[in-house]
Amino acid sequence: VSARENRDLIGRLQQIVGGEHVLTSRDILGSYETDWTRRFSGSALAAVRPASTAEVAAVLAACNEAGVAVVPQGGNTGLVGGSVPRAGEVVLSTRRLAQVESFDPVARELTAGAGVTAAQANALAAAHGLQLGVDLASRDSATVGGMAATNAGGIHVVRHGMMRSQVIGLEAVLANGGVVDRMFGVVRDNTGYDLANLLVGSEGTLGVITRVRLRLVAVERRRAVALLGLDSVEEAIGVALAARNGLPGLNAAEIFFAPGMELVCSAMGLTPPFEKRFPVYVLIEAAGAGEVAEGLAAFLEGSARAAASAFATDARDCARLWAYRERHTEAINTAGVPHKLDIALPLGRMAEFVREVGPVVRSLDPGGREILFGHVADGNLHVNLLGFEPDDERPDDAILRMVAGLGGSISAEHGVGVAKRQWLHLTRSAADIAAMAAIKRALDPRGILNPGVIIPA
Ligand SMILES: Cc1cc2nc3c(=O)[nH]c(=O)nc-3n(C[C@H](O)[C@H](O)[C@H](O)COP(=O)(O)OP(=O)(O)OC[C@H]3O[C@@H](n4cnc5c(N)ncnc54)[C@H](O)[C@@H]3O)c2cc1C
Repeated sequence: VSARENRDLIGRLQQIVGGEHVLTSRDILGSYETDWTRRFSGSALAAVRPASTAEVAAVLAACNEAGVAVVPQGGNTGLVGGSVPRAGEVVLSTRRLAQVESFDPVARELTAGAGVTAAQANALAAAHGLQLGVDLASRDSATVGGMAATNAGGIHVVRHGMMRSQVIGLEAVLANGGVVDRMFGVVRDNTGYDLANLLVGSEGTLGVITRVRLRLVAVERRRAVALLGLDSVEEAIGVALAARNGLPGLNAAEIFFAPGMELVCSAMGLTPPFEKRFPVYVLIEAAGAGEVAEGLAAFLEGSARAAASAFATDARDCARLWAYRERHTEAINTAGVPHKLDIALPLGRMAEFVREVGPVVRSLDPGGREILFGHVADGNLHVNLLGFEPDDERPDDAILRMVAGLGGSISAEHGVGVAKRQWLHLTRSAADIAAMAAIKRALDPRGILNPGVIIPA
């Protein structure tokens, strides 16, 4: 595309959304061009901020015609480099699609523009004792459209499932400007291909999600949190499985390790929870309307005896215990630019992985270190590697191959983005990838939507 064609396209975009919503100045573009981890960045032709489905459709039609690629961006909290441009794309920001259109506390659902953040949706729902089924530490910036586009997981998957389970309706604009409207949300609907479900988890490669209709869940009146210090991963898995099978109202089961606990405490200025250092920590949360604290206490007494434990029931103390786990991502970012791998393993292989990962990292660089944490009941571990250059792919390669060898997945919840695409073949067959590429070609024949994300361009 020539400089003149780019100028013409910018002129058309200005006509569609208004001049002030087509950003081209380098200073302002900066925040749209670099991702949250700072590992991924590129330069954009412009960032465009449409305010309606019709404007999104016109923007995509114009870019498609001009053959200029488009990177959809919500809160830009994605961790796999899919939300930022590589070179010369138009960033389509959904942040002005920010209306909560309807809220039905009886049906327990909410219809919102893609740019509404999780925190905004929750603030509205909270007045009626409701909330989104998916919760994550990026809630203040992550948008409901971005969460659907990445099929976000988070801390309550063990109870409510991933974002896919929350989406009951969806509207999206395809590359040619056509609008797929699957908002009507009837429970039984067997009328052909499930396009809404196809768009969930498509990471901006098949369409721009413009509106979503989401299931809400009750904010449980009572909550109790226990933090346990344990001696091994096997013990942690034992606790998580026992909780899954026998703890009423299990709401979260999280794992982290001594190096993470130490980093969080030093970087965030937190006092360690126990005098003794434990190799493994598990945080269990139960929530419900009844005798939640009693249930969790009985569970700890019967099935999850630990050498050290801390227990909380009021909101402030619960938040204090959660901080050791939730502030990992932030603390890791203060220690460098991490390689973030988000893997899932069969529970029976998790201990083996944890044992082997350190030696593998050190064999590549004696100064490399790994900080692991994750959602233990679902076999999900976030593997954060520090001490490697952003473009050094050796640790990613070694670890993702190890995961594949153990029968796991190279992405549990963050998606593939550009960060994992070259390893997709490790856990998806050639036939799978060919089918995905065929779907991509059919919906986006000119390849303008987030090229190079999921499937290498
Ligand atoms: C501190 C922190 C904690 C996190 N914790 C979790 C966690 O527990 N679980 C989890 O799953 N993730 C987690 N994440 C990752 C991230 O928050 C999620 O992936 C989130 O769903 C991204 O939403 P977003 O609006 O920021 O999307 P963006 O980062 O803007 O985009 C992410 C991807 O979706 C595409 N996209 C965005 N909006 C749209 C749209 N409207 N239509 C089509 N495509 C779109 C983009 O092109 C990109 O490929 C965390 C991130 C941070 C920074």
